[in-house]
Amino acid sequence: MSAPAYDCVTCGACCFSRNPRYLVLLLEDTGRALPADSLFEDAGRTFVDFSCGHCTHLTLSEDRAECGVYENRPEACRAFRAGSFECLKAIRANGVMGERVREKVVA
Ligand code: SF4
Ligand code: SF4
Repeated sequence: MSAPAYDCVTCGACCFSRNPRYLVLLLEDTGRALPADSLFEDAGRTFVDFSCGHCTHLTLSEDRAECGVYENRPEACRAFRAGSFECLKAIRANGVMGERVREKVVA
């Protein structure tokens, strides 16, 4: 039996969250070129804007969910592995929300 394939470019589930503090920048992100207007500060930490229900850098089209800052994406995004426990959890938790948002975007 072959292993399931995970195609991040058509998924994007780990880039969705209703938690506005879902994606925090870490020390490793110092110097990464992320637009200042995509970030906000709270209690001394810096977060990426998720106020629309997904990362502000996620570009959705009919069948794609692409990271607009891939080369400069935060450390937490780099650590996220397709097919991992966390990946499967994100797909279970956010897949429906992602599909809904995508339906709205392409309607
Ligand atoms: S949830 Fe998994 S398959 Fe989907 S984009 Fe994230 S790492 Fe890729
Ligand atoms: S920076 Fe890119 S990879 Fe990270 S959550 Fe946002 S869209 Fe997804």
